[in-house]
Amino acid sequence: MPLPVIEDRGCEGCTACCEFPPIRTEKLQKPANTLCPHCAEASGCTVYEVRPDVCRGFYCGWFFLPELTSDWHPVRSGVVIRSEHFEEDVVTLLILELSAFLVSEEFAGMIGAWVEQGVGVEFERVGPPGHLPAKMRMNELLAEAVAARDLREMQKVFAWSLAHIERSHDWEKDETLLASTLS
Ligand code: SF4
Ligand code: SF4
Repeated sequence: MPLPVIEDRGCEGCTACCEFPPIRTEKLQKPANTLCPHCAEASGCTVYEVRPDVCRGFYCGWFFLPELTSDWHPVRSGVVIRSEHFEEDVVTLLILELSAFLVSEEFAGMIGAWVEQGVGVEFERVGPPGHLPAKMRMNELLAEAVAARDLREMQKVFAWSLAHIERSHDWEKDETLLASTLS
């Protein structure tokens, strides 16, 4: 069942959605991890009135999960919770940057709670510019540390898995070519 958007939550200047995903619409195409040519640093979308439906309809997990504290906002955490898999009971955390938040009790506590509830947890790392992201399922890797309430061990697993993705993933190039007829 779709979750309702929490009304008082906003993007707060975050433009991650205009950069990390590939966009393949009739009027706008751009590869993954490439800033949309219509995104201006200070003012955001410069074609707001005519932006594609895919831009209008996307909200990250920050907008749906009341249990997230303000530290979880993508501009502060460097983490975008993807909402596309909520209906499959999976939380995918796209790690945009290796921020201090990733070693906080707040982060580990929330991940541990999801693992204990049986929610699927995936870590996803943004690829190099023009490449698709890569992800890893975390539940089995974290099961022992979560059961033991061992935050330090959980943090070791986080660090290991993110380093493993970086080191061993064969990043797939996104062949989408940058093009736009929006104005
Ligand atoms: S990641 Fe979330 S907060 Fe950032 S631009 Fe997208 S919807 Fe807004
Ligand atoms: S068209 Fe606007 S909302 Fe869509 S990706 Fe580009 S800048 Fe962002």
